[in-house]
Order: sequence, then structure tokens, then C-alpha cells
Amino acid sequence: MSQRSGSNSRALLGRLRDTMASEAKGQERLDTITHLIADSMGTEVCSIYLFRDTDTLELCATEGLNRDAVHQTRMKLGEGLVGRVAKSNKIVNTADAPSAKGFRYMPETGEEIYSSFLGIPIQRLGEKLGVLVVQSKLAREFTSDEIYALEVVAMVIAEMTELGAFVGEETGLKALHQQAVMFRGATAQEGAAQGNVWLHEPRVVVTNLVTEDPEAEKQRLRDCVETLQAHIDTMFDTVQSGDKEQLEVLEAYKMFANSRGWMRRMETDIDSGLSAEAAVEKEQSTARARLEQATDAYMRDRLHDLDDLSNRLLRILTGQGKETGADMPADPILIASNIGPAELLDYGRSLKGIVLEEGSVGSHATIVARALAIPLVIRAKNITTEALNGDRILVDGDQGIVHLRPDEMVASAFRDKIAMEAEAQERYSAIRDDATITKDGTHLSLVMNAGLMADLPSLNHSGAEGVGLFRTELQFLVRSKMPQRSELSSLYKRVMDAADGKRVVFRTLDIGSDKVLSYLPHVEEPNPALGWRAIRVGLDRPSVLRMQLQALLRAAEGRPLSVMFPFVAQMNEFDQARAEMDKAIEREVRLGHPIPESMEIGAMLETPSLAFAPKRFYETVDFVSIGGNDLKQFFFAADRENELVRRRYDTLNLSFLSFLQQISERCAETATRLSFCGEDAGRPIEATAFAAIGIKNLSMRPASIGPVKHMLLRTNLNDIRDAIKQAHAEGVQSARPYILQSLSGK
Ligand code: PEP
Ligand code: MG
Repeated sequence: MSQRSGSNSRALLGRLRDTMASEAKGQERLDTITHLIADSMGTEVCSIYLFRDTDTLELCATEGLNRDAVHQTRMKLGEGLVGRVAKSNKIVNTADAPSAKGFRYMPETGEEIYSSFLGIPIQRLGEKLGVLVVQSKLAREFTSDEIYALEVVAMVIAEMTELGAFVGEETGLKALHQQAVMFRGATAQEGAAQGNVWLHEPRVVVTNLVTEDPEAEKQRLRDCVETLQAHIDTMFDTVQSGDKEQLEVLEAYKMFANSRGWMRRMETDIDSGLSAEAAVEKEQSTARARLEQATDAYMRDRLHDLDDLSNRLLRILTGQGKETGADMPADPILIASNIGPAELLDYGRSLKGIVLEEGSVGSHATIVARALAIPLVIRAKNITTEALNGDRILVDGDQGIVHLRPDEMVASAFRDKIAMEAEAQERYSAIRDDATITKDGTHLSLVMNAGLMADLPSLNHSGAEGVGLFRTELQFLVRSKMPQRSELSSLYKRVMDAADGKRVVFRTLDIGSDKVLSYLPHVEEPNPALGWRAIRVGLDRPSVLRMQLQALLRAAEGRPLSVMFPFVAQMNEFDQARAEMDKAIEREVRLGHPIPESMEIGAMLETPSLAFAPKRFYETVDFVSIGGNDLKQFFFAADRENELVRRRYDTLNLSFLSFLQQISERCAETATRLSFCGEDAGRPIEATAFAAIGIKNLSMRPASIGPVKHMLLRTNLNDIRDAIKQAHAEGVQSARPYILQSLSGK
């Protein structure tokens, strides 16, 4: 940018700032701004279009077009040239507007006499706010200097919009972040919650937009970038050398923080009159717009890193830390772009719900949210930009929907939903202590899945007879270094103490695939779900497995102990794992420690191969537990974490049901205890089918025990067996409609 245009631009920004600081009303401000811009750019027309709702733009001020059209002319997103700028988030610069793609003639504005058109999106950090347009009669394209100057102005208008400068009766514009917004994400943990927004990372508010002393401002930016670089160096020191992903992110941070290009762009922004903060935000907004369009995963990751880094720099510049001094509201619902498992555990059960912009069903945060039974919606796009601390929010974890600042109708429907659930819970608590006996007299055992000490109180609340699956990964996942045997042992002991004699089945470490430990060397695998995971790691690198088995033996202090090994695919893996247990026991005996008075060692059946293992396997193993989440993904070859396929196959598909039945029959033949501990055990209809084919032990989330028991108490398993038989006879794909019909008594 030339010196002259720099000082021109600064003068214009200075006048805009005065407008902002003045007592003027919203409309007056808008009118002044369009006048100032047209004057400074030497164009006949300058107009500002702002969003009326998410889909409609409205002409809010103009210099040069017919003023009667103000607040009258509206267009949909994508409609006309203005709508095209807003929709594509890209500039339109043309010498011949009437012939440009998408042009729409709006007679009320009188714009047909203007040939040149330059439209710039007004957006802040990816949030679309409107369009700024200049037009002139002379047919010419605008120069890059002019475009740049107008971009800077659009940035300031975006900030002013954000700060509520144009709100008022005459403009009809409401303050941003006050309207009801619905987000459609994906469900990661079911349940409904209502509460108030608590932002994990509060937004940085920039009020100082313009500078008159660019040299001092550039120095301030350079100083803060230096501080940022020092922060990154410190972060490098704290990251474990094995954590490749973290190191990659830090490398990217470092690259950007030292990037001359980034610095140069921000300095040019400052030369044109923006403050250092506004310059950072301007470049951040550009990066966000590119992020929207990037399809390459690596590129997306890096743009994301730049976004994070810009936030850090903004915090340094404004002195606004994560700590804003605000108090956490009552019934907090955590909003974050993403969050690590340890941070989430720190919040613990104080949270009523969680909404993430990113996340995946298998992420560590999701595992923690599930363990804590907190409703979680993931992939709620742009929620961190929209939500403000304290906003009212409803989280529907069943549908993956979030209502921010809901209107009364939505809120009342939601209250009804929660009340109905509470009512159902009441009903379940009445049967909590009843044995689970079906109408035909079959006794079933309902137990719960757990993964945290904090889960244990649910044993009493839910009426679970014990813990059918205690996932031991969390204690490993949330630490930055390998936990010690004594730490594990004391946790397992507390779990057994809290279970107070009820059976707890501990599953040995199930890492690999999606669960990566930062302190263990990470092996790059082409297909981690089929890779080096669970018992495979345990047997190849037995030190962790041995440490864990010892911790369990010590924790038992002579009490009965149940242990199972995850992801056993063939008989010898179980034999070897069991041999490790025998060795661990021998060692304990040698050391004079007490050993459990009785012990059961089981295997999780999570790969179809184990179903066909030799009979000796079924004779040797003390129990088999079907890990339905994994078993189903391998049976149907459908990734359990891939939204595109994960709901595609029905658990009650007769192929799968027949397969489960074969496992059940093999276990019956050798009198091997069989249980099912995948998510499907907690679904009432599925549970009746499992029970009907002979799976009598079902392990599920504590909240599912009530609904499943309620269903089983009313069910005659002979009817379900008949329904399945009929579905087979009719050669259909799934037994679901037949079971549903039978359950509804028709
Ligand atoms: C399963 O695969 O069904 C299971 C219970 O284990 P996880 O969900 O922990 O893989
Ligand atoms: Mg599994």
C-alpha cells in the first residue's frame, strides 16, 4: 500500500472512530459512515447491507442510492451481487455490474445507472454480518489499493456491528448474540440438559480498533509477538518428546509466530490505521474464511493452528486472560471448540452439559463425558462465536441439537421433555431394588459400565447388581506420564471398597486405535482400528500389563477379583495373557502378599474370529463378554466412529443376531458365563433380543438400567423368540419390526 493511501485510510478510520465515540444514534452513524466512505473513495455510491436474519440482507444505509429504499430493499443470501458476496464470503469487483453473474435489478434503489461495483463481505472471525458496497458511474475495476482500503473499513464496521453501534429502533437492528439460534451437531453422549453457557475460552473483546500512531502500534505488536514466541518456547519444554501430534502443532505455532508474511500483513494493516488487535483479527478473519473453504486436512489443521495462535496473541495484546473474573453460572453448560480429557475431568460433574465445535464420538473428551454421563453434542459449528457467558442454553444430547437463547415455546417443550424423563426415572426408581425376572420367569443380571471412581455411587442409584465393565484407560489417558503401580492400586482398591462386595470386572488397558497415550511412542498405523491395540500391545510390551495386573492383585487385598482382557482375537492371546496373570500371582505369593480368595479371568469377544475359536478356549476362559461396539464394527466392516456409516446397520439385523446366537450357544455348551457390554445392551428393545437368545448378563450405562429393566419385566422372552423365528421364516433383513410388534402386544 502506498504512503498516501495509508494516510488517507488512517484519516478515514479516525473519522469512523469519532462516529463510534459520538452520541449519535445507530442510523445516524450508519449514514455518516456511508457518506465518509463515498467521500474518501471518490465514488458516487456507498451502501451498507446488514443481516436481518441469518438468511436475509437489508439495505441499512446508503450514500448515492435512493434513500427511500433504506430498510425496504432486502435480498436473500445468494441473491443479486450483494447476496453473492455474502454467500461466497468473497469480494465482487466488476466494471460492468449489470452484466455480472447474479446481478439483479432493484428498481427502487435507482442503481441501474452505476456501472462499477465493489462488494466486500463484512465479517468477523467467520461470522457473516453484512456487505459493504461502493459503486460508480464510470466503468472501471477498482484497484487493489482501493480494495484493501475498503477491506480495512469493512473490518472496522464488523467490529462496530459486533459492539452494537447500529442497534436501535430506527434501524430495526437488534444487538448481536441476543437472538435464538439452533445448532445441529452430532450426539456423543445422550441425555437432555438445560442451563447457562460457560465458555471454556472466553472471547477476546477488542474495543480499541483504530490507531493514529502506526509506528508505536507496530512496536507494540512486535513486542507482543516476542512474548508469544517466548510462550511457545516454554510450551516446547513441557511437551513430552513422544507426543508427535503436540510437537507438530507447536512446530506450526513457531513457524507462524516467526512468519515474516504474517507480520508484514499485520504491519500493513496497522499502517492503514488499524490497531494491533484489529490487525490480528483482520488476518484471523481471512484465515477463518480460508478454513471454511479448505478441504485438505493438513491445510485445515494448519489454518486452525493459526487461529489458535491469533487468539493467544490477542490475549497478550489486550491483557485479557482466560480468567475473566466471571463466576461460573448455575447449571453450567460448557462450550468449547475442543477440550482435553484432563481439563474436562477438572470440571467434573459440576457441568450439566457440554457442546463442542469439533470433537468426535471416539475422542478422549467424549470418553470422559460418557464416563461422567454428561450430555454431549459435538460438531456444533460456530457456537463459540455465537454464545456468550451466561446465555440460556438447552442441550438435546439424544438428537444432537442445541438451542441457544431459546424462545419460550422451545424452552417449554424442552422442559416437558425433561419432566417426562424425570417422571420415567421416578418409575424406574420404584423398581430399582426388584430382581430382573421376565414374564416367562427368566432371571437376568443387569450390571453397569464404569471408568471412574465417581461412577461408583451409581451402583446404588441405578440398582445395578455390579460393574460388568470397568474401563481402565481413563487413568492412563488423563495423565501426562505413566501412572505408578501404587496410584493404580489405590484407585482399584477404592473402587472395590465402594462396590462393597458387588462384582467389579476390571478390563485391562485398552489403548491403541483412537486411544493414544502421549507418553508412549506413537506408532503411525495405516488403519489403527485394525492395528496394534489393546491386548496386542499388552502382550508385545508386557511391562504395562504386568504392572496393571499387580496393581489389581494388590488392590483386592484377598477379596475376589474379576479381570478381563480386551480385544482377544484368538485362543493363544488369551492363554498368554492368562499366563501373565499366573506369573503375577506367583510373584505376589513369593513376596508374601495375600492373593484373591477367588478369581475369574475372562476375555472380551470383539472380533468375529474369537466366536469360532476351538472349544478349549470356551472351556478355559472363566467368562466371555461381548464388546458389541467393536464386534459390530468388524462384523459389518463399518467404522463405529464414522458418521457416514456408523448408523447404517441395525443391531437386530438377522445376520448379526444369528451370529450372537451362535456365540451364546457355544457358551451354553461349555457352561461359560456370557455377558454383553457394548452400548446396545442399554437399549431396551435390543436388550430383549439379547436376553431371548440366551445372553443373560447385560452391562450398560447406569442411566440405562431403569429403562431396560422396566422393559424386561414386562416381556415374555418366548414371544421375542417367536418374533425372531418369524422374521427368519419370512426371510427379512431385520428382526426389529417383528420384535416391536410383539412388544406392542399386536
Ligand atoms: C465394546 O467394544 O463394545 C466395548 C465395550 O469396548 P469399548 O467401547 O471400550 O471399545
Ligand atoms: Mg471395544
